[in-house]
Amino acid sequence: MTTQILLQPLGHLPENIMQHLQKTLAELFPNTTFDVPAPIEIPKHCYNKSRNQYLSPEIINWIDQNCKQTHYHKILGVANVNAYTGRLNFVFGEAQFGRRICVIYIARLKEVFAEGESLFLQRTIKEAVHELGHTFGLQHCQNTVCVMYFSNTLADTDQKAAELCGGCKLKVGRNFS
Ligand SMILES: [Zn+2]
Ligand SMILES: [Zn+2]
Repeated sequence: MTTQILLQPLGHLPENIMQHLQKTLAELFPNTTFDVPAPIEIPKHCYNKSRNQYLSPEIINWIDQNCKQTHYHKILGVANVNAYTGRLNFVFGEAQFGRRICVIYIARLKEVFAEGESLFLQRTIKEAVHELGHTFGLQHCQNTVCVMYFSNTLADTDQKAAELCGGCKLKVGRNFS
């Protein structure tokens, strides 16, 4: 069976980022299709003006409410904003564990812009694979080069690969790269 994943742009994104995600994720995930629809705007109630940040759980809930009728197995939202949760000052992404919705927040992945676009794109891919991994039921991994290693900093993201370690691959089975 083919897994169908929706890559939903949320608001305005850097040029080509969605095409790059679509192409690279298709290479990493066998038997999976990735569709990219038109962008939709994140509603204002997800934005916390005093922090100048978006509340990630609100965004996840909003997508969940709006996508109940769609047939996609997974939905990955991509937003060029800063976001936080009740527990964490900022997050690179968030996922419904073992369920359907996840989002990545790419605004913070660009901090070291001098190193160029390719590093930014690599980080975006790693965070996308990481959050999708959670939706497939994978927890954080202690292996620092595994994509499921928890990134607290960009250095953590940069040292890990875009792929699962052997142990995580075994856990998730054939659904995943
Ligand atoms: Zn995680
Ligand atoms: Zn692992």
